[in-house]
Amino acid sequence: MIRRDGGQCTTRYSDGRRCEQPGTDVDHVIPHHLGGSDELENLALTCSWHHARKSSSEGGTAAAKTRASVHRKPPTHPALDD
Ligand SMILES: [Zn+2]
Repeated sequence: MIRRDGGQCTTRYSDGRRCEQPGTDVDHVIPHHLGGSDELENLALTCSWHHARKSSSEGGTAAAKTRASVHRKPPTHPALDD
């Protein structure tokens, strides 16, 4: 599979160019929860960035991350610091 894909990310951009990053991750073309198998035909080599991006869009974790709020302490006046 790695040899088939040339050791390179197989993700294609919308203009048809192929990602030029080295393929470091194995991606399921059809995810498991949609009935995808572990057969070679359903696996594709991707770079870690594209894999993370695809995985997050599938799992909805990206949306969860953006919802997470950062809790900050209210600023205190320097004169009040003891
Ligand atoms: Zn890529």
